[in-house]
Amino acid sequence: MAGLYFHIPFCKRICSYCDFFRVAELSYLPSVVEAMHCELEEQREFLHDKRIETIYFGGGTPSLLSPKELQRLIDHASELFDCREVGEITVEANPDDVSDEWAEQLAKTQINRVSLGVQSFDDGELKFMNRRHSAQDAAEAVRRVQRAGISNITIDLIFGVDGYGDAVLENSIAQALELGVQHISAYHLTIEPNTAFGRRRERGLMREVDEEQSEKEFRLMHERLTAAGYEHYEVSNFALPTYRAKHNSSYWHGVEYLGIGAGAHSYNGEMRHYSEQSVVEYIKSREYVEEQLSDIDHFNEYVMTSLRCAEGISLDYLKERFGEPSADRVLRLAQGWIESEDLRFDAGRLFIPAERFMISDAVIESLFEV
Ligand code: SF4
Repeated sequence: MAGLYFHIPFCKRICSYCDFFRVAELSYLPSVVEAMHCELEEQREFLHDKRIETIYFGGGTPSLLSPKELQRLIDHASELFDCREVGEITVEANPDDVSDEWAEQLAKTQINRVSLGVQSFDDGELKFMNRRHSAQDAAEAVRRVQRAGISNITIDLIFGVDGYGDAVLENSIAQALELGVQHISAYHLTIEPNTAFGRRRERGLMREVDEEQSEKEFRLMHERLTAAGYEHYEVSNFALPTYRAKHNSSYWHGVEYLGIGAGAHSYNGEMRHYSEQSVVEYIKSREYVEEQLSDIDHFNEYVMTSLRCAEGISLDYLKERFGEPSADRVLRLAQGWIESEDLRFDAGRLFIPAERFMISDAVIESLFEV
């Protein structure tokens, strides 16, 4: 079992909080897509014939590609990899790229899940984040995808934005619920240095929300969505029953994946590689930075990804994969967190209760091996 990820690193406008690898020079897009077809051929051995079960188009902005171009990448992948059992194919879309025509064409492809970068249903907050769409555009994009017949929709929301408190967040959650989306990813804003927000912070024009407000907004998100029937199954992810994100879940469960595109990461169980190139270099040839993973890397990654998910750490797996002393060490270090009820130990699993996910970083770091 494996996943395939296509990275489309282009954006028409750069959001104020974004430090992802992306470029605003759209004229390179057609050549980059052709280079991605070449990379598919070049990397056909990377997954050692593993069956592909999920495909994901992320970015950047994959909705800058026509549905036909997206399907052409899927068709090419199907010639090179075993894609007979692909269940979930997701495309990220910017709400203002989703016209009726784009949505109808998309419904004719194999893509069966759409991830919309809504971020907020408040026009002031959207403008502050330099998003391209309005709240109404976002709602209309969801409806267009639904009308076209795609019934697995996820949206992204951002919370913890200074100056836009509980009432704005409450409204965004209410609108998301009213639209009946199946999945919501909710991220706390982090102000990265090399972004417009980072520069505003340096000039004293912006600050992070304080811890108390962060927790309040996190709790609001958790309470509203779980009360509406969404399962809080990962720190930043909520799903209606049966609608967990399969592709992203596979990252959290150590499943192998091949990333295609400038800046995309890949992992085949032994090593990770990624291209750090500019799109201009990527068009000419593909070069990778390789990372061999040590046992400590594998251990820390397992602890981190597992504790971010509702299922948590399996003590049996820890014993089997890393040895009994490792499992004993984790259990010993976990005692303090268990006493403070930030961790629970039940049926051989050590997990953070979803309402405490907010402090997961501190718990995870305390269990790392160095
Ligand atoms: S659309 Fe996404 S990738 Fe592009 S600038 Fe905005 S947040 Fe970054």
